[in-house]
Amino acid sequence: MNFFNIINEELKRLEESKTYKYEVPLQSPQDGIVKVKGRKLVMLASNNYLGLSNHPAIKKAAIEGIKKYGYGVASVRFICGTQDIHLELEKKISKFVGTEDTILFSSCFAANEGFFASLTNEKLGFENYKDVLYSDRLNHASIIDGQRLCKPETTDKKIYNHADMDDLEKLLAEDKDKNYRFKIIATDGVFSMEGDLAPLDRIVELAKKYNAIVFVDDSHAIGVCGKSGRGTPEAKGVFGKIDVLTGTLGKAIGGAAGGYISGKKELISYLRQKSRPYTFSNSLPPAIIFGAMAAFDLLMKDKSIVKRLHENTAYFRKQIKNLGFKILEGEHPIVPIMLGEAAIAQDMSRALLKAGVYIKGLWFPVVPKGEARLRAQISAALTKKDIDNALDAFESVGKKMKVI
Ligand SMILES: *Cc1c(COP(=O)(O)O)cnc(C)c1O
Repeated sequence: MNFFNIINEELKRLEESKTYKYEVPLQSPQDGIVKVKGRKLVMLASNNYLGLSNHPAIKKAAIEGIKKYGYGVASVRFICGTQDIHLELEKKISKFVGTEDTILFSSCFAANEGFFASLTNEKLGFENYKDVLYSDRLNHASIIDGQRLCKPETTDKKIYNHADMDDLEKLLAEDKDKNYRFKIIATDGVFSMEGDLAPLDRIVELAKKYNAIVFVDDSHAIGVCGKSGRGTPEAKGVFGKIDVLTGTLGKAIGGAAGGYISGKKELISYLRQKSRPYTFSNSLPPAIIFGAMAAFDLLMKDKSIVKRLHENTAYFRKQIKNLGFKILEGEHPIVPIMLGEAAIAQDMSRALLKAGVYIKGLWFPVVPKGEARLRAQISAALTKKDIDNALDAFESVGKKMKVI
């Protein structure tokens, strides 16, 4: 057996498994309606929550960025890869999420990877120390990987049951008299499989009581949650009270690329010195900087986009339930439609594709056994007519398959 034979054998096993990831190429921009194999489909699977991926104002800004500042920067930030526009976008993000300062990364994955170890692996004047991380069981892969980079000799890692504040408090109480240097509670703002919001109000309370700091990855919430789209802290009434906020520009904020960490000035300045994906990876290109700035400008100027997203979401949630489907209740545009068996979710997503709806199913091991589901993601790019067309498809496929 040589290297490539082993890989080929594994690929065959993966292809036969239920987790094999088929890529279905779009022949169009990402939008409310997309083209696949020459057919038009209602898109219910993208993170394009605000419909900015193909928005004229964002595209115009990105082109302007190339014209004024070029295509690429060809440097990391601290050598010669900082243009004034990088600082301008960082300021804009700070203003939007209510923090003192912000540091950009090539992605939120990189931001999360660059956060934890940059603190826990450093002595910072301590000879002997130990830090502890408390992490929600359903946290995103990038938080998990970021924490894996922390040295076990100096970092204890504890996992609390999903959104279970009693469990989190139990862990915090157990550690009350231990002499930890840093205690960090880490959570997604919104969980991508469930579409639920972390109980940030409770987490902030617990952090205060047990002298911990709070880290929130708001990737699915920036531009989405809260009345003005400022994220989970706004929705949960703790705006400005989160110590460390990370997020992506690759979802609602235009959907291209880029991530950030936002928080107190001294923390952000420190990360510019110590965060390895920041120090050793290329600067974001001007087109993306301009596109993201235009997205935040639009959000701050025009309240109707977030409002439309919230209205579309409420409408879809209500109507899909009226058809007789079981969903996970909530307020987020991620709407899990619960089907139970993996085979039903697979057949149904295939049938919906034929009926004009692009939607993805999730099943074990991505979600627990018996909890297979279709995950609808609603967007401001969808018209009421688009949503009604999708609902008609759900009705006919659901009846044919005897799900409703
Ligand atoms: C999508 C997502 C990421 C990854 O963001 P990128 O900018 O695409 O790397 C990280 N964390 C969470 C919670 C996400 O949903």
